[in-house]
Amino acid sequence: MKVYYDKDANLDIVKGKKIAVIGYGSQGHAHANNLKESGMDVIVAEYPKGGDNWTKAEKAGHAVMMTADAVKAASVIMILLPDEMQADIYNEQIAPHINPGSYVGFAHGFNIHYNQIVPAEDINVFMVAPKGPGHTVRNEYVNGGGVPCLIAIEKDPSGDTKDIALAYASGVGGGRSGIIETSFREETETDLFGEQAVLCGGATALVQTGFEVLVEAGYAPEMAYFECLHELKLIVDLLYEGGIANMRYSISNTAEFGDFTRGPRIINEDTKDEMRQILSEIQTGEFAREWILETKANKPVLNALRRLGAEHPIEEVGDRLRGMMSWIGKGKLVDKTKN
Ligand code: NDP
Ligand code: MG
Repeated sequence: MKVYYDKDANLDIVKGKKIAVIGYGSQGHAHANNLKESGMDVIVAEYPKGGDNWTKAEKAGHAVMMTADAVKAASVIMILLPDEMQADIYNEQIAPHINPGSYVGFAHGFNIHYNQIVPAEDINVFMVAPKGPGHTVRNEYVNGGGVPCLIAIEKDPSGDTKDIALAYASGVGGGRSGIIETSFREETETDLFGEQAVLCGGATALVQTGFEVLVEAGYAPEMAYFECLHELKLIVDLLYEGGIANMRYSISNTAEFGDFTRGPRIINEDTKDEMRQILSEIQTGEFAREWILETKANKPVLNALRRLGAEHPIEEVGDRLRGMMSWIGKGKLVDKTKN
């Protein structure tokens, strides 16, 4: 696997070009501000005019305009809209105004890989995907670091799209820790698998199920919350810092013995088969079709599941307990008045 750093990127190649960052949300605010502070010429597109995010971008010192105007003014166009809105906005507000030979960038490969967006033949298509939430991408950069980025090149009629992607990734701060080259297919499929099976789907189902088993057995919900949710952070911090061995070095021998002997009974061969099934639905496009149809139907399933999730007893207990732990709210990455 090839890894690039700041020394491998030539920022000058992008400095003569205007970059339009479309969408000033989680990723958008981080890209726009980091690129600008790296000396690049950035404009921001938001909607609606004068809305919350439009105002946040203006307050941060950006020129903000409607998408069509930003696209006309730029030659590098980074699409940082919600994935499910990108295709309609691309077809209606980007494609009709795009300058010939422009570079179109994404932070996730979904729409290109599953053919929801098909740019014209003369358009270059690249990916710069920071491996972290937008607020961390911004925060790390401000502190002198940078979140590692993936880059990928899907179409390169101009012959220099990789240089553009490397410079862009470096401007966002990725070159400070490492820029890794991948493909749209690999990024899309592994990203979807990770969030469904492990990071979001797997982790939340594990936490909620553990909480339910304790509460149904008559233990206090507060105890169940601490054991199954709150303390997960302490374990994840150890995993993040030095891997599984590092975590096991730190926990008690009792915890370690329980980990080795009970863990594989929870995540067993059946679970692994189900993970393979989930991966196959991603590879065949079945998940993509389900999600695209869901968004076209105005997200009835997502909305219902959000409501049911919010009504789960773990949320009420958690709200109350977090209120007692004032330090949790201090130094938050997300400040809704600014980002
Ligand atoms: P967000 O939802 O946080 O941000 C999208 C932004 O686009 C919002 O500010 C939204 O405004 C704005 N917007 C909505 N409609 C329009 C429009 N018609 N014209 C202009 N702007 C509009 O998205 P994310 O930052 O989470 O995701 C962006 C991309 O980055 C996706 O491809 C995602 O997969 C990828 N990504 C995201 C990560 C993350 O950390 N969240 C991590 C890695 C990749 P409003 O809020 O007012 O609707
Ligand atoms: Mg992801």
